[in-house]
Amino acid sequence: MTVAENVHQHEIDKFGSQAGRWWDPQGEFKTLHDVNPLRIRFIKDYADIQGKRIVDVGCGGGILTECLAKNGADALGIDLSEDLIDVADLHGLESGINAKYKKISAETLAEQEAQCFDHVTCMEMLEHVPDPGSIISACSTLVKPGGMVFFSTLNRVPKAYLLAIVAAEHLLKMVPKGTHEYKTFIKPSELSQTARNAGLELKGMVGIEYNPFKRRFNLGKDINVNYIAAFQRPQ
Ligand code: SAH
Repeated sequence: MTVAENVHQHEIDKFGSQAGRWWDPQGEFKTLHDVNPLRIRFIKDYADIQGKRIVDVGCGGGILTECLAKNGADALGIDLSEDLIDVADLHGLESGINAKYKKISAETLAEQEAQCFDHVTCMEMLEHVPDPGSIISACSTLVKPGGMVFFSTLNRVPKAYLLAIVAAEHLLKMVPKGTHEYKTFIKPSELSQTARNAGLELKGMVGIEYNPFKRRFNLGKDINVNYIAAFQRPQ
């Protein structure tokens, strides 16, 4: 598979078609807004981001990218959806946030800017590409030795099918129907092994848990649905 082919165009079109509602905190992407404070807390537990150059791979409309910039990072968001890059740019301008955005693949940026970033983030994206290993490897190439790479994704176990697809898409309607496909979910052991093969060391992993009664997310021990992990590129 060549670099340019590591994309499902239908995924780009699906997310791009919802670009206009990306920043509605009560809209289709409410869950991304809700988990964002937890993600930034996890990231800051492992990395000093103040003044650091960070690339956010598969940034969508920029929910995390903006937050990284607000917390002092020199943040670049990349995505293959032109509509989402436009939305991210515009939202950044409106909110006076100094983040940059570019329509480019992780693999191509890795060819151009190897070891140029202090840290790399890649959230809720690996399960939407044909070859997640190629993205993991590109993220490892992009980060400087000693830097951190963060991934979040969904676990391929029945509990994730029940909660992330049956409950979240169909019963509670927290995310649009068809957002996720079970077979693309990634087990923590697979993520860790692929990252290790790409030269990254696992430093920590926690679950992003949802409490349907309180309607709140929190970080916890249950990595059977959604989880976030921190890896380091050794010096
Ligand atoms: N990371 C963001 C958005 C997650 S939604 C957040 O968590 O807030 C998944 C995103 O991945 C979408 O914006 C989609 O356009 C993007 N995406 C899917 N395939 C991609 C690819 N091959 N390269 C770059 N971005 C991709």
